[in-house]
Amino acid sequence: MLVSLQDMLQDAQKNNYAIASINTPNQILLRAVIAAAEDTNMPVTINHAQTEESVVPIEIAVPLMLDYAKKSKAAISVHVDHGFDFDHIMKAIRLGCTSIMYDCSRFPLEKNISEVKKFVEIAHPLGIGVEAELGAMPNNMPSEVHGQETSDLSDLTVYYTKPEEAERFCEETKCDVLTISFGTVHGMYASEPNLNIDLVREINALANGVSLGMHGGSGTPFDQIQSAITAGIKKINYFTAIDTAPAPYLAKTIAEAKNPVNFSLLANQAMEVIYNKTVEILNVFKNTGL
Ligand SMILES: [Zn+2]
Repeated sequence: MLVSLQDMLQDAQKNNYAIASINTPNQILLRAVIAAAEDTNMPVTINHAQTEESVVPIEIAVPLMLDYAKKSKAAISVHVDHGFDFDHIMKAIRLGCTSIMYDCSRFPLEKNISEVKKFVEIAHPLGIGVEAELGAMPNNMPSEVHGQETSDLSDLTVYYTKPEEAERFCEETKCDVLTISFGTVHGMYASEPNLNIDLVREINALANGVSLGMHGGSGTPFDQIQSAITAGIKKINYFTAIDTAPAPYLAKTIAEAKNPVNFSLLANQAMEVIYNKTVEILNVFKNTGL
């Protein structure tokens, strides 16, 4: 069923778990992720990322996502991930998205606040949830698909969200989720991640009821993910580990095949791997121990 991000967050706050936020740029991912949400009884936001417009345009992706969400017995929000410009996020509203990330983190604090505030004032009366970002998320993507340049990963503290800015941001914008930077990386980690859980706790105490978001979940040790949830993270973007999971299995199938391989067989195999990986991560996000 289609559920608002706000209702999902309320339940996640009450029961101390995190909502998974997963990009579904094709029907294989979409079916696998929704089946995993149903079988684990966990809410999920399925995402269309603006950076994936070249993979699938929003006009094609969102109607399909909405159809699957409405027919599912799991709680699903159809979400825009990293919406960078106003025209795009307004188009997403018209297409029926139930929650939207308006990412103005590249701007100075004042402009980030004023842009997000302006959008919240449009979105909230329509029942649409708003996620924003403060601080910077470094990128280390496994491919060029996402169109994000690789960042300098030598010192992740330079990207951290500042608690006093987060306090002001939450108070003034009244967004529903504030994604913060505390040691995670979009894509792959260059070395063993070491998240700053104290920073999450500190910002959570200042967030005025706004839920905190974490991006770059892939590759983070499960115990650190659960510590971050307990400290205040209630929405986690998790994609690279899911999207790269099928490749080794498909490579093996192709290498061992005696005859030409049907794409539809590979697609089904990929769907099964993605389903298993998603079930695994959704069980971690329940935050009931490992
Ligand atoms: Zn992100």
